[in-house]
Amino acid sequence: MRISYTQYACYRHCPHQYKLQYVDRIAAPVPAEMHFGAAIHDALNRMYDPRQWEMPSLEQVIEAFIRSWRGREAQVAEERRQLYFEQGVELLRQHYEKHAKPEDSRRTAATELRFSLDLPGGHSVQGRMDRVDVLPDNKLEVVDYKTSRKMPSQDMVDKNDQLAVYRLAADKLYPGFEVTTTLFYLVHDHRMRTVQPPEFLEQTKDDILDAVTSIELEEFEPNPGGYCDWCAYQPQCFLFRTPVEPEHLDIDIGAALHECVEAGLAEKEAKDRKEAAQQLIHSYLDQCQAERVERGGYLAERRRYKRVTSWDIARLREMLEPLGRWEEVTQVSSSAMRGLLRSRDLPGEMKRAIEAAAEYAETKMLRVKSSVGDEDLEETGE
Ligand code: SF4
Repeated sequence: MRISYTQYACYRHCPHQYKLQYVDRIAAPVPAEMHFGAAIHDALNRMYDPRQWEMPSLEQVIEAFIRSWRGREAQVAEERRQLYFEQGVELLRQHYEKHAKPEDSRRTAATELRFSLDLPGGHSVQGRMDRVDVLPDNKLEVVDYKTSRKMPSQDMVDKNDQLAVYRLAADKLYPGFEVTTTLFYLVHDHRMRTVQPPEFLEQTKDDILDAVTSIELEEFEPNPGGYCDWCAYQPQCFLFRTPVEPEHLDIDIGAALHECVEAGLAEKEAKDRKEAAQQLIHSYLDQCQAERVERGGYLAERRRYKRVTSWDIARLREMLEPLGRWEEVTQVSSSAMRGLLRSRDLPGEMKRAIEAAAEYAETKMLRVKSSVGDEDLEETGE
C-alpha cells in the first residue's frame, strides 16, 4: 500500500476521519489556516528554489504569495481574507529581510522535494520536504515550515514522527550525509532542531506499518477528542451527525430522553438516601458492638468477609512454576494481548499476525445525561 504522511497522520489522529476523507472521498472545506500556510509555502518555494541563478526580489516573493492566495481566498470567510493577506505580506517581508542574504553561508539543495520511502511488505510512505539545506560543515538540514504561532516543546520535536519520516527519506536520498531535521516557526523566526535516534526512526516505521495493516483490515473506529470541535467531517461522522428520521417513525425521542434523565435522577436520589441510611446502620452497629438489630418490624444483619484485591504475581509464579502449575493460572486476556502488542521487542509482522488472529464483537454503550447539567446519570452496555 502507498500511503502519504498526511494520510498516515490523519489515520493516527482519527481512523474514522481517514475513512471519510480517503476511502469514501467526501470533500470537506479546508481550514483557512491551511490555505494561508500553503500560500506562504509557495512564496518561500519561489524565494529558495535552487534552480534560479540569484535570489528573487522581495516583490517577486510577495507576488508568488499573492498569486497563490488569490487562487485560494474564495474558500476563506470574506471577513478574514484581508487579515490573512496582510499577515502573509508582513511575514514574508520580515523573513526576506532576515534571510535573503543566506546566514552562515548555507545553501539550498532542494525545495518541495518529493520522496517515497519503502517499507517492509511492499508498502511505502510518500511525502514532500519543504526545503533541504547544505550547511557549511557539509551536513544537511531538512526544514519544515510552520506558520502557526504555537510552538511545541523540544521533547515533542524529538518525538515528531513527521520529522522521523523526513530523516529516513533524506538518509535514503543523500546517503553518507549527516542529517538534522528542523521545524522552522516563521512567525517567531525560530528553528527547532532534532537528531532523532535510530530506535525512534525504526519505531516510526513500525507505527506506519501498524497503521497500514489496520487500514487494510478496514479498522476505522472513530477516536473522538477535543479536536472533534474542529473536524470538518462532523456532519458525516456517525458520532455527531444529525439523525435522519424515516417517515412514520413512531418514537417520541424527546419524551424518551426526558424520561431517561428524570428516571436516572430519581434513581440517583434513591441510591444516595439508601447509602446514607446504610452508613447510619453501620455506625449504630459499630457503636453498639453488635452485628444485628431488629426494630419496628425491620431487621439488619451484618457479615464480615475477607476479599482479595490483588495478587503478587511474581511470588505466585515463583511458587507455581516449579510445580508445573503456572500455565493453569495464566490466561489470554484482552488487556494482556494489548500489552503484548504495545511491547517494543515484538516485530511488527508478529503484532499484525496477533491482531489478525483475534475475533471482534461489537459493544454498544449508552450514556445518558442531562443536557443542562454535566453529571452522568446512567451507563449501560450490551
Ligand atoms: S468528528 Fe471526531 S470522531 Fe468524528 S471523524 Fe471527526 S475527529 Fe473523528
